Amino acid sequence: MKVFKFGGASVNSADAVRNMAQIVQKHLESTPLVVVVSAMGKTTNLLEKLVPGSSDITSTKVLRQQLEEYHQEIASSLMPENKEVQHKIDTLLSNLDHLCTSLPTDVEHHNYCYDQVVCHGELLSTTIIAEYLNTLGINTLWTDARQLIKTDNHYREGRVDWNATEKEIKNLEPSIKNSYSIVLTQGFIGGTTDGQTTTLGREGSDYSAAILAHCLDAESVTIWKDVPGFLNADPKFFIDTVKISQIPYNEAIELAYYGASVIHPKTVKPIQNKGIPLYIRSFITPEAEGSSVGDYSKLVPETPLYIFRNNQILLSILPRDYSFIAEDNLQVIFGILNELGIRVNLMQNSALSFSICVDNNPQRIKILIERLKSMFRVRYNENLQLITIRYYTQAVIDSIVASRPILLEQRSRSTEQLIVPCK
Ligand code: ASP
Ligand code: MG
Repeated sequence: MKVFKFGGASVNSADAVRNMAQIVQKHLESTPLVVVVSAMGKTTNLLEKLVPGSSDITSTKVLRQQLEEYHQEIASSLMPENKEVQHKIDTLLSNLDHLCTSLPTDVEHHNYCYDQVVCHGELLSTTIIAEYLNTLGINTLWTDARQLIKTDNHYREGRVDWNATEKEIKNLEPSIKNSYSIVLTQGFIGGTTDGQTTTLGREGSDYSAAILAHCLDAESVTIWKDVPGFLNADPKFFIDTVKISQIPYNEAIELAYYGASVIHPKTVKPIQNKGIPLYIRSFITPEAEGSSVGDYSKLVPETPLYIFRNNQILLSILPRDYSFIAEDNLQVIFGILNELGIRVNLMQNSALSFSICVDNNPQRIKILIERLKSMFRVRYNENLQLITIRYYTQAVIDSIVASRPILLEQRSRSTEQLIVPCK
């Protein structure tokens, strides 16, 4: 049994869904499939704006209309005669409307409300796609991931309860082996034991696929993407990208940690633990080989790897009384960061200051600075880019930095990190 994951871009139109169905159909000959699907296109971004308290009434109305039209159009293009799917879409949308008018709008409940609303993207996409696959004669079981992936109630960042999850997922085995060609479920969403919806963090569908593969001892996981595989840099920032054919598990974890967007940071561990290979392939050229993450000893080919993180802010934190930055101060700083859920992308310590580079999320950073200012002096620089280069050479660093001033630099044997102004 194999697990396939299709992200938003691979199902963002009726034609994209047709293409996705062809890929699925082609692979069904050899083995049953568990298929994990994200919300269609940019639906999650839209739903974020429908969370109570996020937008004004006029824009909410427009967005709600867009959401409906987008999904209805895709469904009616794929299955013009199918009243059942229209009815299922209507039911999901009226449930969403009910939530949007009844959920609380206060800050304390925001993360909870977010998950109850945003999950509708995946529920809509999988409902349409399951109907479509069945229309094509592919015997598809739609399953609710909220019953499979069990998490705690850490809304927007649900932490998996592995025992409960494994138990639920194992219950799927007879359906996979005997009754259905495909088990189709939602990426990104999970549920608490008391029936509340949770999400696993943005872009979390890869992680869902890895969780399912882990619990089912799958043969492999394949993530179908709009790039030919694992590239040595994001093509948005880099022209001459090189496709990496083989990536050792630990390298994939390092890259995800540094912010490579090709896979979600939590994805690798569950499959690495069971020695399950991860394939990254293109849904645009599905015959091409793609990349594989597995039990390899080195990268093939061995080439520098680049990770660019834009919109960074560099904060320098200095004790007011010129006392040293030592463990006691650091403990306070990390306590605040942890409380606010801010991840540090790079840090550097000197006697009288502690510098951190973090994503510039204006709301959180404002609170962070306010909190820090009660005890420290805080200076900051915005509009920065954090560049990470694995397997660097000096020539490579020079060509990337060009004439930009370097605000901070850290170098180990394998990794160079630099903070420079954005281009
Ligand atoms: N739909 C979710 C998102 O856009 C999850 C995913 O695509 O992986 O973040
Ligand atoms: Mg996505």
